[in-house]
Amino acid sequence: MFRLRLASPLPAGRAALRALGRALVSALVALWLLCDASPSEAQRPRIHVVREGDTLARIARRYHAQLAAIRDANHLRGDRLRLGQELIVPREGEDPGALRQGRVAPAGPSREERQATVRANRLGLGRARTAQQLLSHPPERGWVVAAGASGRRMPGTLGLPVRGGRFIRGWGSGTAGYHLAMDIRGPVGAPIRAAERGIVAYAGNEISGYGNFVLIQHPNGWVTAYAHNRDLTVVPGQVVRRGQTVAHLGNTGTSHGPHLHFMLIRDGEHCDPAPLFRPHIGPRTRQLEWRRGRRPPEGVQCLPRSARPHPEYAARRAEARRARQAAATGGDEDEDVGDGDDDMPETDVPDEPAAAPAGDPSPTP
Ligand SMILES: [Zn+2]
Repeated sequence: MFRLRLASPLPAGRAALRALGRALVSALVALWLLCDASPSEAQRPRIHVVREGDTLARIARRYHAQLAAIRDANHLRGDRLRLGQELIVPREGEDPGALRQGRVAPAGPSREERQATVRANRLGLGRARTAQQLLSHPPERGWVVAAGASGRRMPGTLGLPVRGGRFIRGWGSGTAGYHLAMDIRGPVGAPIRAAERGIVAYAGNEISGYGNFVLIQHPNGWVTAYAHNRDLTVVPGQVVRRGQTVAHLGNTGTSHGPHLHFMLIRDGEHCDPAPLFRPHIGPRTRQLEWRRGRRPPEGVQCLPRSARPHPEYAARRAEARRARQAAATGGDEDEDVGDGDDDMPETDVPDEPAAAPAGDPSPTP
């Protein structure tokens, strides 16, 4: 007792300094954890927080994981999931048994990811229908607000989603100008960066043709979309900075060679992002800003996706529709086959089926 009392008192000034130091260190650690909270760190075991609409099969598909391995790692007997349940999703080569027994400690979803999932569930973000809506209709007001609408004004430009990437195909290219997007080639695994700050509205692979796909809602109403990724490093509901890594470049979905299919969407219309990129992408491209207003500045073209269907796909859809009608008049078939199919994108259909997948030196737009 006596010794303790002797040992502990410090001069008041020094004690205060120590406390301040400790507080500073904790603040720095917290800051570092926050900055480092993205789930992109390739080597740590993955945790998925179950959200509305999730099934084991869907989760397995999303992460390209084995369903049996997920069951095994989480000691699941049946297929029932709870909202908010945390599931270990083993990567290829990871031993589900070791993960389950905690020999490899999963890092778990960060606080940021948990908060994002709660936010996404509240706002209705992260679902396939969220993505479909943003691809062809205006966003919900609540999504724009959650993206930070009340914050500082946006510069009206787009950061480069692939640094050092090569612009291989522009907006309005392809048969009948169907390609209302920009293709940027880069090495597989290159970071895909948010072109502007916003909230992740969708991160998944349920939208036909796009592969592993991210949609970001921005505070000014814009939406940017990033398709064909190898993997995704954000979750729906996550708030991202301009330049933050949201995925890694890949070749998933309807894609012919590793590249990013990048789209800028305003109220469901697909706009040519080329003049808005900073740094400026080439001497032949104008440099414009889209600071305010719903309408684009002169020189930035926007069209609804349905205005430029790929002829081959349009023919296929018409045929499918005829078949459905025939089946319906036949009377013994369900009619709900492929509902909403008209919204389905044809992302990177080569105009010449024989075109070399990765080597076409298309001109920069
Ligand atoms: Zn494309």
